[in-house]
Amino acid sequence: MHWADNFAEEVIKRNKEEFIVESGITPSGIVHVGNAREIFTQYFVYESLKKLGKKARFLYIWDDFDRFRKVPKGVDKKFEAYIGMPVSKVPDPWGCHESYADHFKSKLVEELKKLKVDAEFISATELYEKCTFAENIKIALEKNEKIKEILNKFRKEPLEEDWLPIRVYCEKCLKDTTKLKYLGNYELKYTCDCGHENKIDFREKGIVKLKWRVDWPSRWQYYGVDFESSGKDHKSYGGSWDTAVLISKEIFNYEPPIGPMYEHIFLKGQKGKMSSSEGNVATLSDLLEIFELAIVRFLYTQRINKAIFVPFDMDVYNIYNEFDKIEKIYYAMEKGTEEDRRRYELVRMENYKKCPQRISFSELTFLVQFLPKENFSEKISEILEQRDVKMSEKDLELAELRAEKVRNWIEKYAPEDVKIKLSTEKIPLSEAEKEIIKEISSVLKKDLSTEDLQHELFRISKKHGKAIFKISYKILIGKPQGPKLAYLIDAIGRKKVIERFKEF
Ligand SMILES: [Zn+2]
Ligand SMILES: [Zn+2]
Repeated sequence: MHWADNFAEEVIKRNKEEFIVESGITPSGIVHVGNAREIFTQYFVYESLKKLGKKARFLYIWDDFDRFRKVPKGVDKKFEAYIGMPVSKVPDPWGCHESYADHFKSKLVEELKKLKVDAEFISATELYEKCTFAENIKIALEKNEKIKEILNKFRKEPLEEDWLPIRVYCEKCLKDTTKLKYLGNYELKYTCDCGHENKIDFREKGIVKLKWRVDWPSRWQYYGVDFESSGKDHKSYGGSWDTAVLISKEIFNYEPPIGPMYEHIFLKGQKGKMSSSEGNVATLSDLLEIFELAIVRFLYTQRINKAIFVPFDMDVYNIYNEFDKIEKIYYAMEKGTEEDRRRYELVRMENYKKCPQRISFSELTFLVQFLPKENFSEKISEILEQRDVKMSEKDLELAELRAEKVRNWIEKYAPEDVKIKLSTEKIPLSEAEKEIIKEISSVLKKDLSTEDLQHELFRISKKHGKAIFKISYKILIGKPQGPKLAYLIDAIGRKKVIERFKEF
């Protein structure tokens, strides 16, 4: 059974009309492929719930009412003036969006739309400004001592005497540099460093925010969250997960959601370690350049307690092959497990009538280097006809899409030895070797199928030794080895190969 279905079944035991799956992040930096693991973990459980016939919602909450903490690398120092404001109130340093938060939000929204991950995006700023959590703010303030007790259990230094579970953004300067006094009921008084002060009713003034460790469980209670996985950063002993569970139960009287931990994501074959502050992170858009939509989704169906290594190196081939395999398993063209079938069902973007005929990523790596981009489908079609393979329009369309990813990969990440082109180099050959080349040329002139051509090449190699392959590769691509020779010859074009051989 796939883990998404396991969790869905666990969630269903909570016995409700409708189940809530939640995810969220502070949009204060690039949302990278590591962050996306949370989104996909939640998303697949949400999909499983629906598959099991349950009503479910997938909420994605933007913590855009969090304070702007520091100016990131590469952004003008003058942005220090905004520190302490909600990230949704800080202008966009790059000038292309309404706010600093929107700059990061919009990119992810776009990416998830492409990937057909249909979350309901909700802005915490909007919620707080509408005083949505006024009741929970009151509960938290009234039970402040109990909250402090819970948090202090895990702290070396206890929280300060006057600690409160909220921050208040000043109405004048928009910053949270405010000193607070809770007056009871829904009232509080604040004095800001800027000199402004006011007495407010937080059912009417949406400037009060619960601090993260209280905000999280408050939200669980408010929406009735049933599932929310999180990463290692929240799951350390006494981390925000541990305290959220206690605060949820003891302060908000709510049974916390099922919340497994997922492992990290690493990039393989990319230079440098992924780090938001360094700016060398991979985004979903980066993945989408070299992976098909379904394959990006596929990466995230791996077991959540294992690290995912997203390959940018030759392992790209393996991911594509694995995907092609589960596709075949799904269509009963190959044997596999129920879990394989389910993985495919979770990641596919389309419901094909029959199993698509795929061209492997590795084969496309040399095809795209020899076939013209303009009439690629047509050329592919011709090549496959020589192999007695007939591809449908749809198959060709899929091959074309995959070829696009392959081109990007070759351009950006492929190791040098993958890059090939028809060689023009002069190579010294012995008389005997020249004879062999002539023999191959004469075979090429017969109108053989690719299979028969490969047989003929083997026949020649039996007569003259395996060196004929090495010589051919050397002449054609200047390397001692390459893809299956008949395939390579057809990718280059038999006429061109004959011409090249004539030079010797
Ligand atoms: Zn922008
Ligand atoms: Zn102020």
